[in-house]
Amino acid sequence: MTELPNKADFASVRDWVFDLDNTLYPHHVDLFAQIDKNMTAYVAALLGLSREDARALQKQYYFDHGTTLKGLMIHHHIDPVDFLEKAHAIDYGVLSPDLSLGEAIQALPGRKFIFTNGSVKHAEMAAKALGIFHHFDDVFDIVAADYVPKPAGTTYDKFMALHRVDTQHAVMFEDLPRNLVVPKTLGMKTVLLVPQDEHHEFTDAWEKRAESDEHIDYATSNLTAFLNALL
Ligand SMILES: [Mg+2]
Repeated sequence: MTELPNKADFASVRDWVFDLDNTLYPHHVDLFAQIDKNMTAYVAALLGLSREDARALQKQYYFDHGTTLKGLMIHHHIDPVDFLEKAHAIDYGVLSPDLSLGEAIQALPGRKFIFTNGSVKHAEMAAKALGIFHHFDDVFDIVAADYVPKPAGTTYDKFMALHRVDTQHAVMFEDLPRNLVVPKTLGMKTVLLVPQDEHHEFTDAWEKRAESDEHIDYATSNLTAFLNALL
């Protein structure tokens, strides 16, 4: 699915806000699978659980608190910095430079941000591997969000206030529908990134679920083509 934008909808956009994982690189690269595995190992080691039990608890925390990290902080008082380091100890070599995406981002008029539930280090490593990091003005991460992940409204407020983003003139790109609800309420344009394979089955189907899709202006499986259509 690639729905190309009506240019007029984006004519007044001055701030371009991008989620990182499965948004700036396609879902099928599956970088997150590596992080997922590391988080399971972390929970297993921390609590002396089998891999299977650790995974169930990890997913429960993710479901209940928005990130596994938040659940571990609340229930086990872990050191978030240590967790983020271990979770993101992955091979970024699966990402390759995406020159055409870089050119498309560079050509956008205004500021560009990465807004992620991961860490700055993770965003930097991934965006550098994609060869697009230098096109961004800043990264707003889970530490800047005081470990309160999207889709919490307070976290969007923090981001918008920090960078004085006028939401009437901003757009958010995301692969999780629920993370676009608040941006739409704030008056932003919203673009959902969907996997190229329409029949892709999600490991965590619940995270794709949204009550309705009224908060999604566009859905596309090709970010570069979408951005190029705006030029
Ligand atoms: Mg994402």
